[in-house]
This record gives sequence, structure tokens and C-alpha cells, in this order.
Amino acid sequence: MAPRSEWLDVSIPITPAMHAWPDSPPTTVTPHLAIAQGDVCNVSTIHFNSHCGTHMDAPLHFLAKGVSMDALPWDAVIGPARLIEVTDSESIKPAALRRLKLKAGARVLFKTRNSTRSWKKPGFDKDFVYISKEAAAYLVDCGVQTVGVDYLSVGGFYKDGIETHHILLGAGMWIIEGLDFRKAQPGNHDLLCLPLRLLGADGAPARCLIRRRSR
Ligand SMILES: [Zn+2]
Repeated sequence: MAPRSEWLDVSIPITPAMHAWPDSPPTTVTPHLAIAQGDVCNVSTIHFNSHCGTHMDAPLHFLAKGVSMDALPWDAVIGPARLIEVTDSESIKPAALRRLKLKAGARVLFKTRNSTRSWKKPGFDKDFVYISKEAAAYLVDCGVQTVGVDYLSVGGFYKDGIETHHILLGAGMWIIEGLDFRKAQPGNHDLLCLPLRLLGADGAPARCLIRRRSR
């Protein structure tokens, strides 16, 4: 039997210093109880928004009548996934996808220069690589079930931000954002992504792991 590769954590740490979408409420972690202050235990109060760090988008994020995170099927976030490297420094375009022969129900993760460049910047990177609206429509045509990207939005900061979300979420695709693939190699993987069980939520922070498959 071939040795199994190890799980790789591709979520980013939740800290007040993590990259956040401009003008989004800040993430804070403050002590509520502290042993150092004479309390019997340590307990923290944590504030964050539903789209901080590594997280999922529910259709409700951009569609007023879209379903919430409660409707997430486990199949969308647990199972084989393809990690695809795209070297375009602006966006993921249909030309980069056509040769891949994506199948209906596929879970597709994109590694771009964001993984090695954007996360390393001192603050939010407005020039991150995104999925163009044309590529979003192509993913929908292929029947892709789940798409994951390596910065904080599937759509761009300057371009296609709303359009790409509308196309993907409108087609019922599940979105994972804020992944970090700097240590991941392109190819076939197992995916395990578990968003927090926030009732009625438009999105939720998630822990996400991948593991290399031999085929
Ligand atoms: Zn989003």
C-alpha cells in the first residue's frame, strides 16, 4: 500500500493581525477571565465577522433570498478535489480552464501567486488574483460543485467582485475563500473543510485541510 501523505492545514490563523477586507469589522481577541489576574481559568472574548480569514460564502452572502450556511451539503466540502495552479498575475480566465476537462460535481481549488505574495504583504492586497466573471461562467457551465481560492474573495477588488459572486452563488456553487496554498503542490487531493455552525449565516470561518492523493 502506498504511504498516505499527511494532511496540510491550508487555513490561515485567526488573529487580530490577519488580512481583512477593507472597512470590515476588525478581529479582536481579549481576555475575559485570566489566571494571571486571579481568575480560576483563561477565557477569551472573540469578535470576528462571518467572512474573516479562511471562510465559506453561502448564497445568502450576495443573494437576498439565497440559502444560508445551514444548507451546505457535506459532499461539497469533504471528498476529492483538484488543486490547479494558475500563473496569470491578474485573474483566472477561461483559457486557463478549458484544457482541464472539469467534470460536473468537481471540487476545484486554485493556487495563484496570492499564496506566496498576497498573504506576505503587510496589509490587505488589492491586486490579488481573482476569478474573472467569464471564468466564473465557465465553471458554472462545467457543473463545478465547490470552488476554493487563495485570497479573501473569488471576485476582484477592482473588477468582477460582485459579478463573479453572483454567477457562482446564483448557480448554487459553494465557495471557500482565504485559503493558503504556499506549501501545497498542484494535483489531486482529499479536501476537508468544516465551517463553523453559525445558524442562518451568510458565511462562516472554516478550518480547511488537504491531503495529496496518489491519483
Ligand atoms: Zn466572497
